[in-house]
Amino acid sequence: MEKNLKPETLCVQGGWQPKKGEPRVLPIYQSTTFKYDTSEQMARLFDLEDSGYFYTRLQNPTNDAVAAKIAALEGGVGAMLTSSGQAANFYAIFNICQAGDHFVCASAIYGGTFNLFAVTMKKLGIDVTFVDADATEEEIGAAFRPNTKALFGETISNPSCAVLDIEKFARIAHSHGVPLVVDNTFATPINCRPFEWGADIVTHSTTKYMDGHATAVGGVIVDSGNFDWEAHADKFPGLTTPDESYHGLTYTKAFGKMAYMTKATAQLMRDLGSIQSPQNAFLLNLGLETLHLRMPQHCRNAQAVAEWLEANDKVAWVNYCGLKGNKYYDLAQKYLPGGSCGVIAFGLKGTREDAIRFMDNLKLACIVTHVADARTCVLHPASHTHRQLTEEQLIEAGVAPDLIRLSVGIEHVEDIIADLKQAME
Ligand SMILES: *Cc1c(COP(=O)(O)O)cnc(C)c1O
Repeated sequence: MEKNLKPETLCVQGGWQPKKGEPRVLPIYQSTTFKYDTSEQMARLFDLEDSGYFYTRLQNPTNDAVAAKIAALEGGVGAMLTSSGQAANFYAIFNICQAGDHFVCASAIYGGTFNLFAVTMKKLGIDVTFVDADATEEEIGAAFRPNTKALFGETISNPSCAVLDIEKFARIAHSHGVPLVVDNTFATPINCRPFEWGADIVTHSTTKYMDGHATAVGGVIVDSGNFDWEAHADKFPGLTTPDESYHGLTYTKAFGKMAYMTKATAQLMRDLGSIQSPQNAFLLNLGLETLHLRMPQHCRNAQAVAEWLEANDKVAWVNYCGLKGNKYYDLAQKYLPGGSCGVIAFGLKGTREDAIRFMDNLKLACIVTHVADARTCVLHPASHTHRQLTEEQLIEAGVAPDLIRLSVGIEHVEDIIADLKQAME
């Protein structure tokens, strides 16, 4: 495929490149296994001496085509699909952290990621410190320890809609010799490509805008190929010293810029196996083919809805970075000049019960756990996705108890606003 194609073209044509006589549309390789002519050929695959497919738990051609499209969209050297966004974020960190290690994370993040990092990964012996992403470089830098291996944040946080200062975070990470991992789910590579601002690894819950139709749970990890693991070899022995489970192969020496992605596939996928099904990868690819058309419509609609909410006297507050005067407006102008996403956080005047009653009266906007798909939907995180969190953790995660997360879809905006209006009345 030609280099330097625009994102719109990559959405439609990236990834699958059929040869003569092959299907024009990405086929679903519904096969767990792949054929070889000799035992020797197969043995070389197991030793990572040859590349090729042998078992779908490690790699599958349908998945790889979709991963290649996403890698091209993000401007990375390689990518790996995972079964969910949770698996993507877990692998992204676990690929470079082991028991006894530590990482630093912006506190305003998705509730599921918060639980994964704060509870489950702690049980594996990996410690995390949450920081206020809006704090100064010195304050955030103070959270680093000698055993810190990564810095993590979300481009636009779910559900609090904070915008990450990616360049600042990259500076902090790099000055401590660790990579910056950015969850780019809400912005998508249509609206922000974190690698252009210094991020090293990008993750997504492809379940959201990338799929876009709420049909398939999935995730992806993309590597920029830019982080120099060898320059910090003592911090990343998993990449820079021999892997006994592959006869003493060293990832950085054998795979160069592909070291991180190869380890994630060859080691984590082999052992933990959170692969995306080829069926789901096919659905994800269909979604990606229109991502560049859907994102601008989400953003236009959300901007109009946010302005309408802001002007409404029943509304206590609105957080949408496209609103002038918003705390994140300047950061959004820098990192998201073409628009941010369709998700708005707001609170109503009145009690928590009033908020629930408002949501129950919506007709077009459904109450669903999901966010960021074609249909307008709504959720009360404190009662739903974040109900595991204490009041204190809620505030740390930027989730006010009255916060309503409105995910504006791609319907006609007048119908969306009419629905909000009747429910408020
Ligand atoms: C939904 C979400 C996740 C988790 O993804 P799943 O596909 O639901 O596992 C991670 N990060 C962000 C920002 C999300 O919105």
